[in-house]
Amino acid sequence: MSELRYPPWISHSILIRQVELGGRLRTLEPLRIGVGKSDLPSATTDMPVIRLTELRKGLEVPYIPGSSLKGLFRSAAESIAKSANIKPEPCSGLSKDNCMVIRRVDGETLGNLIERFLKIYAFQEAISNFWENACLLCKVFGAPMYRSKVTLQDAYPIDENGELTSVPTGIKTGIAIDRSTGAVYGGALYRIEYVEPGALFSFALSANNLPNYALGLLVEVLTMLNDGLLRIGGFKSRGFGRVEFDDIFIKVKHFSPISGDEDVLNTLGDSSDRKVTVKPSESKDGQLIYKGNELRDLLDELRRVWKDYVFSISKG
Ligand SMILES: [Zn+2]
Repeated sequence: MSELRYPPWISHSILIRQVELGGRLRTLEPLRIGVGKSDLPSATTDMPVIRLTELRKGLEVPYIPGSSLKGLFRSAAESIAKSANIKPEPCSGLSKDNCMVIRRVDGETLGNLIERFLKIYAFQEAISNFWENACLLCKVFGAPMYRSKVTLQDAYPIDENGELTSVPTGIKTGIAIDRSTGAVYGGALYRIEYVEPGALFSFALSANNLPNYALGLLVEVLTMLNDGLLRIGGFKSRGFGRVEFDDIFIKVKHFSPISGDEDVLNTLGDSSDRKVTVKPSESKDGQLIYKGNELRDLLDELRRVWKDYVFSISKG
């Protein structure tokens, strides 16, 4: 067997390391999570927030779909990676603008090439070509034929004890303006429902087999969100969607010696990565738990690894 041309973390064949980030989001401004993408007021339509019925308690609660959070994380990570000038240039991940479609290898799209290799069970060739040609965003958040390494759970309103709860919502009324002409749409009023500030939502992100610099990129996104540079949902430009993290923790589980041990997160065989050593707050059943000061140290260190990665690859 020839030597692998890619680090083991890129393959999905084994679970090496699992990092879970959990905690709560507190809304500091009204939060608008609509059904679908239409946040443009269409005349006289009432726009309720997206709701889910919880069968056990019979509650109907507003929630933030994990898919919305993942989309938000991917696009924020894309702009961070773009402004850091990393290569290959990050794609948007949309169906017509992802690396499988836009990258070409000897005149053929990356997607076609990989599909051809998969058909003849040449998995290593398929993964090598993905590793060499796809952008970091596709490697972290997935692409057609390549599963995401990051999962975000639906976020539900919870109380101080972490139990599902209902949250107050309000209604904002406005006049529907046609953006191109500036004229009022037949004098139409629209009504938007939103979640009132001060609500708590559950938050859970898990990342499998990510090297430290990719974890650092995720921490950059978390920081933007916490600092109000990134908002959730609709009407962001009108003072909606600001949240902050409350009570967060990270759990790290090593499934292979290459992942690390007691207080070490190894590079997962990636020569662009750097090892991180931070003492956990506690360690139990082979799981490292970071909270409080230790969590802060870990987050700072992961961000430094991301910055070092950007610096090292910009030098070529
Ligand atoms: Zn890509």
